[in-house]
Amino acid sequence: MGIKRASCAELEKRNPHIADVLWHQAEEGGRRSPKAVDLAIMICMSCPLRMECLADSIANVFDDESIYGGMGRRERQTIAGIMENDGVHARRRDGVDPDKRRLAALEWLRAHRPIVDQVTSMRREYWREDYRKRKARARQAEPVSA
Ligand code: SF4
Repeated sequence: MGIKRASCAELEKRNPHIADVLWHQAEEGGRRSPKAVDLAIMICMSCPLRMECLADSIANVFDDESIYGGMGRRERQTIAGIMENDGVHARRRDGVDPDKRRLAALEWLRAHRPIVDQVTSMRREYWREDYRKRKARARQAEPVSA
């Protein structure tokens, strides 16, 4: 079996700036660009390391606005919450070995792929709507030509 490579890392090798814009960079005012987020999520969804990436970000409590495993901060929190209700406390740091928490998260994610995909697509729709609204606002703000 070949070595799995992260899609973002492949892109980063070719163009670090684009990779940064898609997965991490915020616009002025601290918000992420909805178009960049949507594209990053789309790439993540076909990344061969998606579940590992997501498990890692949940177990290490990455609470920034970057995209990991096709999810932003809120979706990662949502998935972690669903996991906890199911008895998997991947984010709890009280003495449990981080590798064990990561493995438990990974097992859960692999066994609940439809839930992961559903949370991802609901949030992706949110970003698309956000993009449409911003475009509409920008059009309204354009001066009317005589
Ligand atoms: S799933 Fe993770 S490793 Fe893969 S492209 Fe997305 S952020 Fe990168």
